[in-house]
Amino acid sequence: MDTKEKLVRVRFAPSPTGPLHIGGVRTALYNFLFARKFNGKFILRIEDTDQKRFVLGAEKYIIESLRWCGLTPDEGPSIGGEYGPYRQSERKSMYESFVQQLLESKHAYYAFDTPEELEQMRNSMKASGVPSPTYNSITRSSMKNSLTLPADETKTRIASGEKYVVRIKMPRNQEIKFEDEIRGWVSVNSSNVDDKVIFKSDGMPTYHLANVVDDYSMKISHVIRGEEWLPSAPLHIYLYECFGWQDKAPIFAHLPLILKPEGNGKLSKRDGDRLGFPVFPIEWINSENKDIFSGYREQGFLKEAFVNMLAFLGWNPGTDQEVFDLLGLVNAFSLGRVGKSGAKYDFLKTKWFNQQHLRLKTNQEIFDNIIKIDDQILSSYTKDYILSVIDLVKERAIFYKDILIEGRPFLQDEVFFNEKAVSKKWDVELVPVLAELCKQLLTIDNFKKDQVEKKFHAFITAQGVGLGKIMPMLRIAITGNLSGPSMFDSLELIGREKMEQRINYAINNM
Ligand code: GLU
Repeated sequence: MDTKEKLVRVRFAPSPTGPLHIGGVRTALYNFLFARKFNGKFILRIEDTDQKRFVLGAEKYIIESLRWCGLTPDEGPSIGGEYGPYRQSERKSMYESFVQQLLESKHAYYAFDTPEELEQMRNSMKASGVPSPTYNSITRSSMKNSLTLPADETKTRIASGEKYVVRIKMPRNQEIKFEDEIRGWVSVNSSNVDDKVIFKSDGMPTYHLANVVDDYSMKISHVIRGEEWLPSAPLHIYLYECFGWQDKAPIFAHLPLILKPEGNGKLSKRDGDRLGFPVFPIEWINSENKDIFSGYREQGFLKEAFVNMLAFLGWNPGTDQEVFDLLGLVNAFSLGRVGKSGAKYDFLKTKWFNQQHLRLKTNQEIFDNIIKIDDQILSSYTKDYILSVIDLVKERAIFYKDILIEGRPFLQDEVFFNEKAVSKKWDVELVPVLAELCKQLLTIDNFKKDQVEKKFHAFITAQGVGLGKIMPMLRIAITGNLSGPSMFDSLELIGREKMEQRINYAINNM
């Protein structure tokens, strides 16, 4: 890749047509990583030329999602930059001259066909055996456009205010070729590309024209975007040729799809509802019907984990390392290691990433976050004690809230006995042994885990009682459950008095 010669300028160019799907965030992430890796610029461009699909709040949502993920653009709406404005609707006046250029060079033409006429053309083509008819180098000769109408008539129609569109005139039987960074050489015969509308009489360009003109005008070096745009790439390449910009065309990289967990087809909004995981980075509330779609942020995921997981959906570092922070990803990232085939989304793996990143948090950071969830604990326990509880249960947690759940036996006086655990492992015959164990443990001077552990083992050996019998009883007495952090660490944490109280309480109440 000639990234050394080219100043890297990449853009994330979402259309504000709704909330950003995780696939969109991944596109933004790869652009961001690539820009940072090569000391380039990461640009946010809002592609809002299709006013019919505009959704209120979508742009704000996109910006907030990027902010949460730490993907701060260098240029963009409300940030500014040398190549603004960065919202296409605000660039409207710029596109007109480019359309004129294409009309004059005969690379584009006016078309006046009504929706009914277009429908009629499609129907008659279908009837003659063409499965998916388009407006193209063949059909255009029988339609109502400036190629078939006399020049005067075209002029009069435009002057009288008749609605028109401008279409690109695709050549026949010409090879359009480009080298995609991920897919290698892509070659398409121009006869298979239709005469797309590039401009409308309301003065608005369509996506294709605006996208190419802006990538050129904003000096974009690499276009890194989703695979769904691959079919549009030949048209874009052709537009660069029409404008005579072929030497300035960006390098293209089309990212693989994010697939459903089962692997069949693209991950959709509905898969999230069906399988119980979010497909949006942050919560989205539909302003019209107030429907709420949950986000990773609101479900308690750490942004570091979310970003780490997204990076691995289609890319790998070529080593065994899986846990990365954003800077680590910047250093490790390369387009060369982005795969061609779709990446299956895996919610369990996403949780695993969260667990790994939670483990990297300091106890102080975890403390600051859990008291946001429940500050009541501060009225009963000291900060130092809470920090010790965090240290004890941290490894077992996936989310911040799990620290409170796992830490519950240590953050409230009363023990709640899990019925299943009791019926499975509480053995009344062993109650005297448990009482004796308690007595023995109380004789320890320095009530530290090593001491407790030693005494415990000496006791069970002397008594000839199985570890698998007495340990669960001790655990039930102390925490109410069968699973939890190390028993000896737990005992050191709660101390001898609480241990005695809890064992007695369990013996008397079971
Ligand atoms: N506006 C397009 C989108 O919504 C951008 C495609 C591209 O990056 O060229 O995804």
